[in-house]
Amino acid sequence: MNMTCEVARDLAELYHEGLVSTESARAIRAHLKECGRCRRYYKTYDTMNALHFPLYKAPDFEEAEARSYEALSKRLRKRRVFEIVTTSAAIGAGSIMLAAGIILLVRSHSDD
Ligand SMILES: [Zn+2]
Repeated sequence: MNMTCEVARDLAELYHEGLVSTESARAIRAHLKECGRCRRYYKTYDTMNALHFPLYKAPDFEEAEARSYEALSKRLRKRRVFEIVTTSAAIGAGSIMLAAGIILLVRSHSDD
């Protein structure tokens, strides 16, 4: 069965939800093997889905794709900031515990 790009893209949501038949899934995979544009579409669909932007609602795939990359880079930037903040917090907490430990050690020695 030869699938058109339009059909392959129409089925993207159902495919990702696992709601297509085995036969359709096979036809989609065969199409994706041959068609770079649809492969990109499905890849973008994954990204958009992960970011909770339903791609099927986007009127223009190219625009949606650009938006997904923008959102992804924004999300990665946010994650980076989160990592820096949590790492700093962990280092801060560690430093406080170390300082407390030193103080307790010094105190217990001075009690002797
Ligand atoms: Zn195609």
